Amino acid sequence: MRRNAHQTGTPMTVLSGQVSVDLSAISDNVRALRRLTPAPNFMAVVKGNAYGHGLVDVAQAALAAGANWLGTAQLTEALALRRAGITAPVLSWLYLATASSEIIRDAVENDVDMSLGSAAQLDAVAGIAKGLGKPAAVHLELDSGLSRGGARAEDWSNLVAAARRAELAGILTVRGIWTHLAWADVPAHPGNAAAVNAFEEAVRQAREAGLEPELRHVSSSANILDRPEFAFDMVRAGLAIYGLAPADHLDPADYGLRPALTVTAPVVLVKKVPAGTGVSYEHQAITHEPRFLALIPLGYADGIPKGISGRSVVQLGGRRVPVIGKVCMDQFMVDLGPEAGGVSVGDTAVLFGDPNSGAASADDWGAAIGSHGDEIINRIAPRLPRAYECPDYEDPEDGVPHVA
Ligand SMILES: *Cc1c(COP(=O)(O)O)cnc(C)c1O
Repeated sequence: MRRNAHQTGTPMTVLSGQVSVDLSAISDNVRALRRLTPAPNFMAVVKGNAYGHGLVDVAQAALAAGANWLGTAQLTEALALRRAGITAPVLSWLYLATASSEIIRDAVENDVDMSLGSAAQLDAVAGIAKGLGKPAAVHLELDSGLSRGGARAEDWSNLVAAARRAELAGILTVRGIWTHLAWADVPAHPGNAAAVNAFEEAVRQAREAGLEPELRHVSSSANILDRPEFAFDMVRAGLAIYGLAPADHLDPADYGLRPALTVTAPVVLVKKVPAGTGVSYEHQAITHEPRFLALIPLGYADGIPKGISGRSVVQLGGRRVPVIGKVCMDQFMVDLGPEAGGVSVGDTAVLFGDPNSGAASADDWGAAIGSHGDEIINRIAPRLPRAYECPDYEDPEDGVPHVA
């Protein structure tokens, strides 16, 4: 086994903190999920810069581990995958009516599948594909209750009829039909069963209209773990491939999944303060006895939530120590206790990562602010450099530093 590593962003020497992404966790998670789902096709969802993990690196690791589709929200993300040389099928589902015809032409030319959820969207894409002389591959989206993108049931027959006409004219290929569930993160909710029934009816109508969609897809992470009967031809996995909990009752570890992302920062100052010392703005925390404090040079400009004050811990010197006082823009304090416990400047604090290592998880941090791990990892600022460990596949750009 080879060990590859590369780095993006700020050089090591001026590091205030670092995001480490263990790409072997991504590949192991993809393999575990592929074993678990009966779906013959597996889409790795890499929207939002792969949930903050790094678009291209995650996409390559997921594909190498057996994902055969990639999913993004925006077309620009899908095209970035193509520019990086990735040729696997890609679906982009956030159709932007404001997109220029150049970018849509670019998508068709580069075999990026697009999701369409209205007759107006279909006309726009069909018009551009006609001009190009190449059919656009599309997935029609049913709004099964989320009331976000997609066509409602009453508009569905118009959409499939228009899609069929465009297919017959050679300017469109309907490769998929899909929906996203309103209770995607609550698998047992009866709304899901009703939505899946509506979806099956929509597929039936599409076939009646003459369409032959290869790929029916509905499930995201929580339903992949909890509702194999919703797998259809493909599942779309986001949170689970990053090793985060897709629902409160689903512990990733129970499914052999582990977080890929760890945020660390050095201790840059350790000081002893007497009892009665106010810490950080407005003295929201006051020491009740002499304490040792350590300064961590990350703050809300780096994506550390302000609300974490007094509610979460970092792993430092083999212990978990609480965040104390208000988180500032670039720095926060942790409370080491009545003794420094051997912690000194230059030691590494683990903010969150793999709970197996004793650190808090991003899900713990999410729970501490009344949210979830996905919000924590997504808000980590791009200014923090990402370091990639990828032990079990050949990095095509090995030795060449990546530029974020
Ligand atoms: C984000 C998203 C997913 C992935 O959801 P997870 O819960 O992260 O697995 C799947 N499908 C669509 C349409 C999405 O927007």
